[in-house]
Amino acid sequence: MRDAAPQTIYLADYTPFGFDVDEVHLTFDLAPSATHVRARIRFSPKPDATDRTFFLHGEDLTLLSARIDGETVKPKITPEGLTCDVPSIPFTWESHVQIDPAANTALEGLYQSGGMFCTQCEAQGFRKITYYPDRPDVMSTFTVRINGPHPVLLSNGNLVSSGDGWAEWHDPWRKPAYLFALVAGDLIAHRDTFTTMEGRKVDLALYVRPGDEGKCAFGMQALKDSMKWDEEVYGRAYDLEVFNIVAVDDFNMGAMENKGLNIFNASAVLASPETSTDMNFERIEAIIAHEYFHNWTGNRITCRDWFQLCLKEGLTVYRDSQFTSDMRSAPVKRINDVIDLRGRQFPEDQGPLAHPVRPESFQEINNFYTATVYEKGAEVIGMLRTLVGPAAYKRALDMYFDRHDGQACTIEDWLQVFEDATGRDLSQFKRWYSQAGTPHLSVSEDYKNATYTLTFTQHTPPSAASPDPQPLVIPVAVGLLDADGNEVMDTQILELTEAKQSFAFAGHSAKPTASILRNFSAPVVLEFAADHAALLAHDTDPFNRWESGRALALASLLASITKGTAPDADYLQGIATVLRDDSLDPAYRALMLGLPGQSELAAALHRKGDTPDPQATYEAVEAMKEALAQTLKDDLPGLYADNQVTAPYAPDAAQSGMRALGNAALSLLTRLDGGDTAQAQYGSATNMTQQLAALANLIRAGRGDAALADFEAQWKDDRLVMDKWFALQVSEAKPDDAADTAKALTRHRDFNWKNPNRFRATLGALAQHHAGFHAADGSGYALLADWLIKLDPVNPQTTARMCSAFQTWRRYDQIRQSLMAKELDRIASTPNLSRDTTEMITRIRNA
Ligand SMILES: [Zn+2]
Repeated sequence: MRDAAPQTIYLADYTPFGFDVDEVHLTFDLAPSATHVRARIRFSPKPDATDRTFFLHGEDLTLLSARIDGETVKPKITPEGLTCDVPSIPFTWESHVQIDPAANTALEGLYQSGGMFCTQCEAQGFRKITYYPDRPDVMSTFTVRINGPHPVLLSNGNLVSSGDGWAEWHDPWRKPAYLFALVAGDLIAHRDTFTTMEGRKVDLALYVRPGDEGKCAFGMQALKDSMKWDEEVYGRAYDLEVFNIVAVDDFNMGAMENKGLNIFNASAVLASPETSTDMNFERIEAIIAHEYFHNWTGNRITCRDWFQLCLKEGLTVYRDSQFTSDMRSAPVKRINDVIDLRGRQFPEDQGPLAHPVRPESFQEINNFYTATVYEKGAEVIGMLRTLVGPAAYKRALDMYFDRHDGQACTIEDWLQVFEDATGRDLSQFKRWYSQAGTPHLSVSEDYKNATYTLTFTQHTPPSAASPDPQPLVIPVAVGLLDADGNEVMDTQILELTEAKQSFAFAGHSAKPTASILRNFSAPVVLEFAADHAALLAHDTDPFNRWESGRALALASLLASITKGTAPDADYLQGIATVLRDDSLDPAYRALMLGLPGQSELAAALHRKGDTPDPQATYEAVEAMKEALAQTLKDDLPGLYADNQVTAPYAPDAAQSGMRALGNAALSLLTRLDGGDTAQAQYGSATNMTQQLAALANLIRAGRGDAALADFEAQWKDDRLVMDKWFALQVSEAKPDDAADTAKALTRHRDFNWKNPNRFRATLGALAQHHAGFHAADGSGYALLADWLIKLDPVNPQTTARMCSAFQTWRRYDQIRQSLMAKELDRIASTPNLSRDTTEMITRIRNA
């Protein structure tokens, strides 16, 4: 049971726990419906504590006994935990609880997935396992004994000893309870080893269900690459004798960095050419790196409280993006990150869910694992590195690891090492952590007496989270080109600190062309009437060259939507020229063929004071694709043929770039040949990238039925491939059919709605189908609401996260607004709605 009125928790109210935890011993007797957990914990009162309340978190636990120093005690129990009178000197707490993993569908704490036991404790799942001070600033060593009939019994740290039906693990590194993990099951290990730069051998294992052992090699290589990269770039070596990864089918997130025992959503680790696309491979490599990098940024140095979540997530996302840039193409990675930022973080930052990178209050912390904390948090670190330079960044990071290893830290600690390493005052920069909203940066130019002047005005729209936004420190990378496209001023970092600020560049005999915000040096909305055609043709900064094409496409699409104009001929010719340039990376050219997303267009219309019409937006994008196909009609067959890979499949940057460009060409070709090339590709495909792209094009061409049936027959036993089959039918449906398609799929025998991956593949795909979700009759809204109401009592976390589909509801016309308000109210009035979903719906509805 939960309290009727959810409590709000404030950063300002932080108080330390009054006790140190010296060591933790846990014993698990595993049974699906009646697992017994015995805890023996050594507590020491802190001499300087102001609050000595002995409160242990605990939810959904049956307490069978409790003792202090061997004497039975009777604690006072509430739905949130227990309090007890305790000695004023060090003492041993012992408890014995019973829990029910089989009934745990929320997938927080100890639960079952396909017959195995596994755990997810971040943020507050450990309190569903035993009574404990479940807060990240309480750190301890853990010794864990597992008794169970399973062949594989795993926990954190190193294996101490094991026998038939039991195993004992010890983690020598002090850690918070959110990093605890346990796995028990009938699993197969894919093994390897890694020798650290300090010469220590580490045993690596990736545990999977029988049948999946052929999908482990890539993940293992990604792990070894990550370990080596963190040594070379950050000087950080691994610190245990073993590193284990386990793949789990039922998982709310992508993966979890538990010390020495990472637990992964199977979709984020299992890979083979036949079943995974190039994008899957790249994502898996990035997630494995991300979780591994947490060993230092998250585990060795953790967060003092959950308000500091960006301390570990922003930094670790930044580190994994550096890794991917090094392993693959840096410009391609940067462009993909910005597409993602604009697709997910900008809408959040510009709507009712806006919050600072470090929030100051929450009701349910699960609702703050957001694009703002993660992706904007990473952008803030990128800006910091740009401002201080790579050498000072490295000094600051070395100082951070030296000074704070073994501690639970704050954003203040993080910024302090940068101040100490560089002598800079970062008090204004710190606003990036406390101020919500996407800044707008408008730029005007002036040229006289051989001096070129740029004037910047920054403005962050006020929001409920930040009603009175102040000027930020914004690093703006600027380069200047002459009329022939030669660089006449290399990239400089301009440091904006004021609301309005000018920078003059003398000695230019002709007015230069400015390339502003190179490499997207700050997460802002840039408003500048740049010479996009010239930059698309010549910019030496690959990001801004791509961005110029994007800006021209955006302007053309907005004009089509609001004025009914035809696609911009200059844009079409500019893109054609870039595509014909064989010296450019195929992956980069494939990105050039992309168009702004429909929700991005809706946001741009909203910014201009227009009401977006989803159907008109959809039609404008279709017309633009048609125009691209016509403009490139003589090039497409060659472009397609030249980018067919003949070598054996490899998921590397070079091959996947060719496949990306070949498939981008295919999607335009399909408009010209009605799907004949796609049909041929479907028939000859030997990897999932080619098979899935062909299938998508056949659906778009209206001739997908046979291929869909064939695909299902081929892959019906592979749950991860079937997720793609579910998702593709929804995402490729015509707007009027999207809700019906999703609804029909929810009746399919393989629609297991309690599995988060399958739920997201079907209903999540509908939420992301802009014109389909916003269908004029409200069918998309109603279907999603039906399913959120159904899922909430089973899995509040996944339900709450998907509520964000409604976050932009105030942008649309009155009819759509009232249809969405009706569904929001219907969800809100559901009896016993979870704290997670209640908080999300309330924030969205109050927009
Ligand atoms: Zn993370």
